[in-house]
Amino acid sequence: MSGPESTPRQGAVGLFGGTFDPVHFGHLRAAEEAREILRIDDFRLIPAGRPALRSAPVATAEQRLEMLRLAVAGCPDLRVDDREVRRSGASYMVDTLSDIRRDSGAAPLLLLIGQDAANMLDGWHRWRQLFELAHIVVMRRPEAHFDCRGELREQVERRRTTDPAALRNAPAGCVLPLEITQLDISSTSIRELLAQGRSVRFLLPDRVTDYIREQGLYRAS
Ligand code: ATP
Repeated sequence: MSGPESTPRQGAVGLFGGTFDPVHFGHLRAAEEAREILRIDDFRLIPAGRPALRSAPVATAEQRLEMLRLAVAGCPDLRVDDREVRRSGASYMVDTLSDIRRDSGAAPLLLLIGQDAANMLDGWHRWRQLFELAHIVVMRRPEAHFDCRGELREQVERRRTTDPAALRNAPAGCVLPLEITQLDISSTSIRELLAQGRSVRFLLPDRVTDYIREQGLYRAS
């Protein structure tokens, strides 16, 4: 099936991409807060098939997709979009956004990224086009700030808004910094705990932990 089932044709679409190797409560809490604050009805978590800017994930794309599905099972507000996993080659966000834009008409698309990623946005494939395709919501801690230079800095300054409503009135083009709780959890630390045979309870959903154990993932090699 292409993308999430029964795609609404109107209203803002929230897009939260990541490697999710594995998904954890840091991701899920950030997604939930952004969904609620921005009043996004169609909120999608998008696992990268083959991330372009980092080393290869440990779990396969299918396993990362399945973990996400298990994590949001029973949460109708959060859906999983599998288009990057189904596409071959490196996963570029600009291709994903172009694809979603074709399906969504003039709906506002809101791409959610962390402050660290936002500071390095000019390293992304065809990065200038991202602003034409979507709004960019920068999820940050209260003390985190933009630390970028050159043309990216100019673009961010020109497009920056503090009003979430501005994002609902145009299909793309704004940059909104948004304070979001960042739980001190990372996929790296979960993989390390599992490799040491230690508990990961309360860091990620139990259903995901059960799946990790069934699949024998993240064990010390
Ligand atoms: P890794 O440790 O393998 O680098 P990660 O835990 O950082 O992984 P990613 O899949 O790389 O997770 O992150 C996807 C998105 O989730 C990114 O936009 C990132 O900023 C955000 N994110 C990651 N961890 C958290 C967290 N604890 N709280 C809020 N957002 C997070």
